[in-house]
Order: sequence, then C-alpha cells, then structure tokens
Amino acid sequence: MRIEDNAPKRTGLLGHYPTPLEPWPRLGELLGCELWAKRDDLIGLAFGGNKTRKLDYLVQDALHQGADWLLTTGAPQSNHCRQSAAAAAKVGLGCTLLLGGPGIRSVTGNLLLNYVMGAEVEWTTTDMHERQDALQNVADRLRAQGHTPCVIPLGGSNHLGTWAFVKAIEELSEQLDALGSSPPDIIITASSSGGTQAGLVLGARALGWDTRVLGISVDLPREPLEALVSQCIQSAQRAYPTLAGHPSNDLWIEDLMTEEEYAAFTDPELESLVEVARAQGVLLDPVYTGRAFLGTRRLAQQNPALFAGKRVLFWHTGGTPALFSYSRGLASYADTWTEEKA
Ligand SMILES: *Cc1c(COP(=O)(O)O)cnc(C)c1O
Repeated sequence: MRIEDNAPKRTGLLGHYPTPLEPWPRLGELLGCELWAKRDDLIGLAFGGNKTRKLDYLVQDALHQGADWLLTTGAPQSNHCRQSAAAAAKVGLGCTLLLGGPGIRSVTGNLLLNYVMGAEVEWTTTDMHERQDALQNVADRLRAQGHTPCVIPLGGSNHLGTWAFVKAIEELSEQLDALGSSPPDIIITASSSGGTQAGLVLGARALGWDTRVLGISVDLPREPLEALVSQCIQSAQRAYPTLAGHPSNDLWIEDLMTEEEYAAFTDPELESLVEVARAQGVLLDPVYTGRAFLGTRRLAQQNPALFAGKRVLFWHTGGTPALFSYSRGLASYADTWTEEKA
C-alpha cells in the first residue's frame, strides 16, 4: 500500500534510496530478539545520516521558494549542520551554520567537514531563545547582502522533515514486501528534535502497522521530548491531511540515558559502541546511536520480555563523523586494551 499524498517532492539529488536493510543476528542474540537495522548512515551524502532524508524535502522546498542560501543551526558537532553543508554544496547553494557553543574548540569531526564543504560557520549561545534571535539576525544580514536565505529549523524537524520519515516507512515497507517479511514489532530510534520519531509513528499508522516506535531520548527528559514529537506530528497532520486522524497519544519515549549531559561519552556508552563494532562490523556514534543502543540493552536487561521473541528494527540514524571528535576517549581505551594484553 502506498501513502496517498498531495505530497512534497524531494530533490532526488541528496540521498540514495532505499537505504540498506540488514540483519544483526549476533546483537539480536544478546537482546533475545530478531534484530534488523535500517542503515541511514549509508544514505550516501558526505557520511550520511537521518538528516539527509529530511534535507531532501527541505532543500527542494528552499529551491522552490527561490532561495540561494541555506541557514541552519545546531551544536558544534551537529550532524544536521554537516549534512546541510553537504546538501548546499551538492545543489549549488550557499550555506551558513550558526553553531551553539563557546566558539571553536578542536576542528575535527563534523565541524571540520563543514569547513571542508565550504559552509560559513558562525558562533552563538547555546540558549535556544537567544539562538532563535541570532538566527533571524543572520537571515536579515544575508538578505541585506542580496541573498535569499531559507532558514532550516534545528534538526530539520518541521512538517517537511517529519514527512521525510513518513516516506521512510513506505520505503521500508517496500523492502519488507520484497523479502516477504511482515512489519517489525518495534522500531527503535535515537530521538532529539522529534521529527524522526514523529514521521516513523505517522508512517506506521498510515500503513496500518501495529509497530510500536521507541524513541530513546539522547538529551531531554521524556515530557519535553514528547512535546517536541507531538508538535512535529501535529504540524505534519495539518500540512498533509492524508495523515490526519491517526492517534498521536501513544508515544513511547524512554529517557533512561539522559542523566548524562548531551554528547557526554560515558564508559558504558563507549563499551556498547565497541560491542556493536566487534559483533557486527558497524560503527555507531557516541552522541545518538551509541546512546540509543546502550539504552536498548539496558531496557532489555530491566525487562527481558520487552524484546524477547520480537522482530525489532534499529534505525541507524548516522552520526559517524562525530566519532573522530571523541578520538581521545577512544584512544585511551585502545591504550587500556593494549596494556591489558601486555
Ligand atoms: C539528529 C539525529 C538524531 C535525532 O533525530 P531527530 O529527528 O532530531 O529526533 C538521531 N541520530 C543522529 C545521528 C542524528 O544526527
């Protein structure tokens, strides 16, 4: 079944679709379930990730509006900003990234790639309200310079970014059909600005799946994240009547990983990342997917029945370049292992 739509278009230039769907049998054994992964880290745009799906629609909209410049915001190691820089380069737009933080620390990982891809990087405060004002100021300045900027929200999470993940479910359903497989019982994603989880929930409902979408929060406590995901659901429902009427009150969000500060890389997260790398030859990132996978492991330990015997799909949302901004932490572990062996 295809989702009826009066739908927005994507550029058709940014991502390679469908992204791979692959089994993770050894990690599935650890969780006691049949585990699959949807590899949006392999989507094909400058180290990939879930923001490429969103940007494919957001950038098409920007082009349609006649924009010649993308302007967006995020953390210093934002994957969203790095993919925005790549998207701008790919379609020939200018790009300014307003990063929230104390200015340049070490130029590595995503931040380094922003410069490599020609984005202009500016710094602002981490306070969300002040950052919103700063974003408008930069947009005004770009206009005064004769540009037509398109402001893309944090994480690309508006109705278009959400729509991208409704369509991702349709893409998944076609892959499952080809395999003769039924929908997963549970889809797990790292959740932060809300659009990814919102789109997955709406997409699953639109196709009549019973699938539950588990969002593992990487920064916010459950309630504020729930509010963000709900906002994304509602704005997508307003924009696309075909999505209206589906229940939005069954959001499943776990915030068991948020006692640690956003982007802090704890020893258990590092160990979990290494476990996945060794069991499956897959690299997670410290901020999002590593946290989501460790959260999944902990939930399974607390309540083995949660995943037992189920078909579970882990959405690999990317983040790979952030690994290199944690190389010191990773290297110190490598040293430890070497010493242990010696
Ligand atoms: C942004 C991001 C997420 C979270 O997606 P949202 O739509 O912002 O909730 C998850 N994983 C990675 C790697 C990301 O960059």
